Amino acid sequence: MEIAGQHPDIISARDLGLVACTRCAKVWPAGTQTCARCGSTIVSRDAKSLQRVWALWLMGVMCYVPANLYPMLQTRTLLSVQEDTIVGGAIQLVHHGAVGIAIIILVASVVIPLGKFMAIAFLAISVKRVSAVSKHQRQRLYEVVEYIGRWSMIDIFVVAIMSSLVQLNTLAAINPGRASLFFALSVIFTMLSAQAFDSRMIWDLQSKPEGSPADD
Ligand SMILES: [Zn+2]
Repeated sequence: MEIAGQHPDIISARDLGLVACTRCAKVWPAGTQTCARCGSTIVSRDAKSLQRVWALWLMGVMCYVPANLYPMLQTRTLLSVQEDTIVGGAIQLVHHGAVGIAIIILVASVVIPLGKFMAIAFLAISVKRVSAVSKHQRQRLYEVVEYIGRWSMIDIFVVAIMSSLVQLNTLAAINPGRASLFFALSVIFTMLSAQAFDSRMIWDLQSKPEGSPADD
Protein backbone atom coordinates (compact mmCIF):
# COMPACT_ATOMS: atom_id res chain seq x y z
CA MET A 1 0.00 0.00 0.00
CA GLU A 2 1.26 3.45 -0.91
CA ILE A 3 1.77 6.00 1.79
CA ALA A 4 -0.41 9.05 1.10
CA GLY A 5 1.59 12.13 0.21
CA GLN A 6 4.67 10.24 -0.94
CA HIS A 7 3.39 8.92 -4.23
CA PRO A 8 2.35 11.30 -7.01
CA ASP A 9 -0.19 8.87 -8.49
CA ILE A 10 -2.14 8.28 -5.31
CA ILE A 11 -5.79 7.47 -6.09
CA SER A 12 -8.47 9.36 -4.21
CA ALA A 13 -12.09 8.32 -3.75
CA ARG A 14 -13.03 11.14 -6.11
CA ASP A 15 -10.84 9.67 -8.87
CA LEU A 16 -12.79 6.42 -8.55
CA GLY A 17 -16.16 8.19 -8.74
CA LEU A 18 -16.83 7.80 -5.05
CA VAL A 19 -17.66 10.26 -2.31
CA ALA A 20 -17.49 9.70 1.44
CA CYS A 21 -19.94 11.01 3.99
CA THR A 22 -18.04 13.42 6.26
CA ARG A 23 -20.28 12.58 9.21
CA CYS A 24 -20.41 8.77 9.26
CA ALA A 25 -17.66 7.98 6.68
CA LYS A 26 -19.81 5.69 4.53
CA VAL A 27 -18.76 5.72 0.87
CA TRP A 28 -21.31 6.42 -1.88
CA PRO A 29 -21.17 6.77 -5.68
CA ALA A 30 -20.26 10.30 -6.79
CA GLY A 31 -23.32 12.51 -7.21
CA THR A 32 -25.17 11.10 -4.23
CA GLN A 33 -26.87 14.04 -2.54
CA THR A 34 -27.77 12.66 0.86
CA CYS A 35 -26.23 9.90 2.96
CA ALA A 36 -28.83 7.12 3.21
CA ARG A 37 -27.28 5.91 6.44
CA CYS A 38 -27.06 9.08 8.55
CA GLY A 39 -28.99 11.64 6.48
CA SER A 40 -26.06 14.06 6.15
CA THR A 41 -25.65 16.13 2.97
CA ILE A 42 -22.79 14.78 0.87
CA VAL A 43 -20.39 16.92 -1.13
CA SER A 44 -17.14 15.75 -2.64
CA ARG A 45 -15.60 19.16 -1.99
CA ASP A 46 -17.38 21.95 -0.21
CA ALA A 47 -17.36 24.59 -2.98
CA LYS A 48 -18.31 27.43 -0.62
CA SER A 49 -15.85 26.35 2.04
CA LEU A 50 -13.28 29.07 1.36
CA GLN A 51 -15.93 31.80 1.15
CA ARG A 52 -17.25 30.83 4.57
CA VAL A 53 -13.73 30.52 5.98
CA TRP A 54 -12.84 34.06 4.84
CA ALA A 55 -16.17 35.59 5.91
CA LEU A 56 -15.95 34.11 9.42
CA TRP A 57 -12.23 34.88 9.61
CA LEU A 58 -12.96 38.54 8.82
CA MET A 59 -15.67 38.66 11.49
CA GLY A 60 -13.19 37.16 13.97
CA VAL A 61 -10.53 39.76 13.13
CA MET A 62 -13.08 42.61 13.29
CA CYS A 63 -14.23 41.53 16.74
CA TYR A 64 -10.66 41.11 17.92
CA VAL A 65 -9.88 44.82 17.41
CA PRO A 66 -12.47 46.17 19.92
CA ALA A 67 -11.62 43.24 22.20
CA ASN A 68 -8.19 44.85 22.62
CA LEU A 69 -9.25 48.51 22.55
CA TYR A 70 -12.14 48.33 25.03
CA PRO A 71 -11.50 47.58 28.71
CA MET A 72 -11.50 43.91 29.64
CA LEU A 73 -11.58 44.60 33.39
CA GLN A 74 -13.29 47.31 35.32
CA THR A 75 -11.97 47.67 38.86
CA ARG A 76 -14.11 49.80 41.14
CA THR A 77 -12.94 50.87 44.57
CA LEU A 78 -14.44 53.42 46.95
CA LEU A 79 -12.28 56.14 45.48
CA SER A 80 -11.80 55.32 41.85
CA VAL A 81 -12.83 53.35 38.81
CA GLN A 82 -10.03 51.83 36.80
CA GLU A 83 -10.48 50.23 33.41
CA ASP A 84 -7.88 47.96 31.87
CA THR A 85 -7.55 46.54 28.40
CA ILE A 86 -6.22 43.01 27.97
CA VAL A 87 -2.63 44.13 27.52
CA GLY A 88 -2.97 46.92 30.09
CA GLY A 89 -4.36 44.43 32.61
CA ALA A 90 -1.46 42.08 31.99
CA ILE A 91 1.00 44.96 32.59
CA GLN A 92 -0.83 45.79 35.83
CA LEU A 93 -0.52 42.16 36.93
CA VAL A 94 3.22 42.24 36.26
CA HIS A 95 3.48 45.38 38.42
CA HIS A 96 1.69 43.50 41.19
CA GLY A 97 4.09 40.59 40.86
CA ALA A 98 1.65 38.15 39.25
CA VAL A 99 3.91 37.43 36.29
CA GLY A 100 2.56 33.89 35.79
CA ILE A 101 -1.05 35.02 35.40
CA ALA A 102 0.06 37.86 33.14
CA ILE A 103 1.82 35.37 30.87
CA ILE A 104 -1.25 33.09 30.78
CA ILE A 105 -3.45 36.06 29.83
CA LEU A 106 -1.05 37.27 27.14
CA VAL A 107 -0.68 33.81 25.63
CA ALA A 108 -4.42 33.09 25.72
CA SER A 109 -5.62 36.44 24.45
CA VAL A 110 -2.83 37.73 22.20
CA VAL A 111 -0.44 34.98 21.07
CA ILE A 112 -3.02 32.23 20.39
CA PRO A 113 -5.69 34.39 18.66
CA LEU A 114 -3.13 36.10 16.40
CA GLY A 115 -1.51 32.73 15.67
CA LYS A 116 -4.89 31.28 14.72
CA PHE A 117 -5.73 34.19 12.41
CA MET A 118 -2.41 33.74 10.62
CA ALA A 119 -2.69 29.93 10.47
CA ILE A 120 -6.21 29.95 9.01
CA ALA A 121 -5.30 32.65 6.47
CA PHE A 122 -2.20 30.71 5.49
CA LEU A 123 -4.17 27.45 5.05
CA ALA A 124 -6.89 29.17 3.01
CA ILE A 125 -4.33 30.85 0.75
CA SER A 126 -2.15 27.77 0.39
CA VAL A 127 -4.88 25.53 -1.07
CA LYS A 128 -4.96 27.86 -4.08
CA ARG A 129 -1.26 27.74 -4.82
CA VAL A 130 1.76 25.53 -4.40
CA SER A 131 3.16 26.02 -0.94
CA ALA A 132 6.65 25.50 0.41
CA VAL A 133 5.08 23.89 3.48
CA SER A 134 4.31 20.21 2.92
CA LYS A 135 0.73 18.92 2.92
CA HIS A 136 1.40 16.83 6.00
CA GLN A 137 2.61 19.88 7.89
CA ARG A 138 -0.42 21.88 6.76
CA GLN A 139 -2.80 19.10 7.79
CA ARG A 140 -1.07 19.05 11.19
CA LEU A 141 -1.36 22.84 11.44
CA TYR A 142 -5.09 22.57 10.68
CA GLU A 143 -5.54 19.94 13.39
CA VAL A 144 -3.68 22.09 15.93
CA VAL A 145 -5.84 25.14 15.07
CA GLU A 146 -9.01 23.08 15.49
CA TYR A 147 -7.75 21.56 18.73
CA ILE A 148 -6.76 24.77 20.49
CA GLY A 149 -10.07 26.44 19.59
CA ARG A 150 -11.76 24.97 22.63
CA TRP A 151 -9.08 26.38 24.95
CA SER A 152 -9.30 29.95 23.66
CA MET A 153 -12.01 30.96 26.14
CA ILE A 154 -9.46 30.63 28.97
CA ASP A 155 -9.13 34.41 29.00
CA ILE A 156 -12.83 34.80 29.77
CA PHE A 157 -12.42 32.24 32.56
CA VAL A 158 -9.51 34.18 34.03
CA VAL A 159 -11.66 37.33 34.10
CA ALA A 160 -14.51 35.40 35.70
CA ILE A 161 -12.24 33.89 38.34
CA MET A 162 -10.61 37.24 39.12
CA SER A 163 -14.01 38.88 39.40
CA SER A 164 -15.25 36.30 41.88
CA LEU A 165 -12.02 36.45 43.91
CA VAL A 166 -12.06 40.21 44.25
CA GLN A 167 -15.81 40.33 44.79
CA LEU A 168 -15.14 38.82 48.24
CA ASN A 169 -13.31 41.98 49.17
CA THR A 170 -16.00 44.58 49.78
CA LEU A 171 -13.67 47.47 49.06
CA ALA A 172 -13.13 46.64 45.43
CA ALA A 173 -15.29 45.18 42.70
CA ILE A 174 -14.04 43.79 39.40
CA ASN A 175 -16.41 43.44 36.51
CA PRO A 176 -15.80 42.18 32.99
CA GLY A 177 -15.64 45.10 30.57
CA ARG A 178 -17.12 45.48 27.09
CA ALA A 179 -14.05 43.83 25.57
CA SER A 180 -15.04 40.45 26.99
CA LEU A 181 -18.10 40.28 24.73
CA PHE A 182 -16.05 41.12 21.63
CA PHE A 183 -13.36 38.69 22.68
CA ALA A 184 -15.88 35.87 23.08
CA LEU A 185 -17.39 36.70 19.67
CA SER A 186 -13.92 36.75 18.10
CA VAL A 187 -13.13 33.31 19.53
CA ILE A 188 -16.46 31.89 18.30
CA PHE A 189 -16.06 33.30 14.78
CA THR A 190 -12.48 32.01 14.58
CA MET A 191 -13.58 28.54 15.68
CA LEU A 192 -16.37 28.52 13.07
CA SER A 193 -13.90 29.74 10.45
CA ALA A 194 -11.55 26.83 11.19
CA GLN A 195 -14.45 24.39 11.07
CA ALA A 196 -15.65 25.75 7.73
CA PHE A 197 -12.31 24.85 6.19
CA ASP A 198 -12.61 21.67 4.10
CA SER A 199 -9.25 20.05 4.92
CA ARG A 200 -9.55 17.72 1.90
CA MET A 201 -8.61 20.77 -0.18
CA ILE A 202 -5.10 20.58 1.28
CA TRP A 203 -4.58 17.27 -0.53
CA ASP A 204 -6.21 18.21 -3.84
CA LEU A 205 -2.98 19.50 -5.36
CA GLN A 206 -1.51 16.05 -4.69
CA SER A 207 -2.05 14.65 -8.16
CA LYS A 208 -0.69 17.73 -9.92
CA PRO A 209 3.04 18.00 -10.52
CA GLU A 210 4.89 20.39 -8.21
CA GLY A 211 4.95 23.93 -9.56
CA SER A 212 1.70 23.84 -11.50
CA PRO A 213 -1.06 26.23 -10.44
CA ALA A 214 -4.25 24.94 -8.86
CA ASP A 215 -7.52 24.76 -10.75
CA ASP A 216 -10.13 27.23 -9.63
ZN1 LIG B 1 -23.41 9.42 6.62
